[in-house]
Amino acid sequence: MSAIVAIVGRPNVGKSTLFNRMIKRRDAIVDEISGVTRDRHYGKSDWNGREFSLIDTGGYVVGSDDIFEKEIDKQVELAIDEADVIIFVVDVTAGVTGMDDEVAQLLRRANKPTFLAVNKVDSALREVDAVEFYALGLGAYYTISSINGSGTGELLDAVVEKL
Ligand code: GDP
Ligand code: MG
Repeated sequence: MSAIVAIVGRPNVGKSTLFNRMIKRRDAIVDEISGVTRDRHYGKSDWNGREFSLIDTGGYVVGSDDIFEKEIDKQVELAIDEADVIIFVVDVTAGVTGMDDEVAQLLRRANKPTFLAVNKVDSALREVDAVEFYALGLGAYYTISSINGSGTGELLDAVVEKL
């Protein structure tokens, strides 16, 4: 079994964009647990000679805000259970949201290597906006742009060091 890296975070922060940038090939694993885990995507990747499986979480049920939040919590709890390393993605253009706070709280309680990736930092101008994510209490963060790839190499260097 190769190590597992899970990408979590609320919708629209860029998890799938980051996943697609990081994977080398998609995995054929079909998630058999229905409901909560449907729509999770698996891939294989390697970096600095270290191979790992990557999970892109999603699969949020469209419904009341309450159900929606529970789905995200479940995905985070699953990631805490199964992953060796978690990448928590947030969106610099949106700032810290209540949902980010909730996810951060779950991750702070878990004893799992977690990397906070402040995404959509497409230009140096947005670096300064990323500072507010210190408030999540997860320590240092990585600023990345999943669209243009900046910062993703540094993030991966740090991730594979924990595998
Ligand atoms: P997910 O719901 O977290 O999986 O987010 P997606 O990967 O589907 O991305 C949501 C939206 O954000 C899409 O329109 C992406 O093109 C956009 N996006 C993702 N990464 C970046 C980024 O680094 N910079 C910018 N400007 N947009 C991004
Ligand atoms: Mg997605």
